[in-house]
Amino acid sequence: MSKNYHIAVLAGDGIGPEVMREAIKVMNAVGQKHDFTVTYEECFVGGAAIDHCGTPLPEETINACDKAQAILFGSVGGPKWDHLPHSQRPEAGALLPLRKRYGLFCNLRPARIFPGLNALSPLRADISAQGFDAMVVRELTGGIYFGTPKGREGEGDNERAFDTEVYTRAEIERIARVAFKVAMGRKKKVTSIDKSNVLASSVLWREVVMMVAEDFPEVTLEHLYIDNATMQLIKNPAQFDVVLCSNMFGDILSDECAMITGSMGLLASASLASGSFGLYEPAGGSAPDIAGQGIANPIAQILSMALMLRHSFGEIEAAEDVEKAVARALKDQIVTADLARAMPDAHIVNTVQMGDAIVE
Ligand code: ATP
Ligand code: MG
Repeated sequence: MSKNYHIAVLAGDGIGPEVMREAIKVMNAVGQKHDFTVTYEECFVGGAAIDHCGTPLPEETINACDKAQAILFGSVGGPKWDHLPHSQRPEAGALLPLRKRYGLFCNLRPARIFPGLNALSPLRADISAQGFDAMVVRELTGGIYFGTPKGREGEGDNERAFDTEVYTRAEIERIARVAFKVAMGRKKKVTSIDKSNVLASSVLWREVVMMVAEDFPEVTLEHLYIDNATMQLIKNPAQFDVVLCSNMFGDILSDECAMITGSMGLLASASLASGSFGLYEPAGGSAPDIAGQGIANPIAQILSMALMLRHSFGEIEAAEDVEKAVARALKDQIVTADLARAMPDAHIVNTVQMGDAIVE
């Protein structure tokens, strides 16, 4: 009997629904090949949910996510809802509560220059041609964004402002374990980012990462200070495999890594909890400038779905098949308009045709 997985599908706003249809199409196709089925519960989220239900994360959506094995998320937000107060906006009102509710402590952001697409990178051609295929593993629920005390004090509450970076041994250990496990399925190298020459939290970070490394003797571990890491990424990006970071350093480096590839429509992400549950979404936003035109690149959504196959369902071969199919379509020079400038002779297709090419 074939396996069945049940997921919540939160397509959201802008190009979200357009690229989501393609991801589901590819998921059904790869399921057929690998003998599993997927059932979907589609729910409103973000601006679409504000319009239909008056809130960015309605009760029915939360209930559907509670019942699901994973969440496939599109993108939320757009100019229509920008006038709302910050906490009621699609972004802050939907994604942050989901991260919190499901304890999504680990953010995986693969960033890769696909073969043949190095002209998209803003780096010098001789550097981008050496390749870049990194995975940022970012701690997502701790560190300076959440540490207490935090606030302002002094005369009229205005003299001083402060944030506190707090990491516990347990928090560092669980994110480090994810990084080493991911590295075992890749090039077996972890670069841990810290600022242990000045921060006490970084000293503990380094200690715990070195301790976890003892359980993974095949993996090479390197440490870089954050300032040096930002520089090395520009100078010699090919040296990186898995990049292990705290919440704030990962926030900075994942954007830098995305920019090195130069292709927002290709980048996936996963936010994982301690079990197999995860939320999977493209790294880019709702792209209101091209929404409704049927030209958005569905690859980021499709690769996010592949991360779900790998990390929530353990369907490693199916995930690899999807990743290979994407690489193959690009190698055959089938591209959406956003990638056209990298390939002067490419065959430019729309969103649906790109999905079809990957299924094929
Ligand atoms: P945020 O990341 O805060 O949502 P944003 O909404 O400004 O920021 P995006 O929605 O990611 O950013 O859009 C940035 C640019 O990248 C836009 O010009 C958009 O058209 C383009 N873009 C993003 N995703 C895709 C995609 N899947 N296909 C084609 N172009 C895309
Ligand atoms: Mg956006």
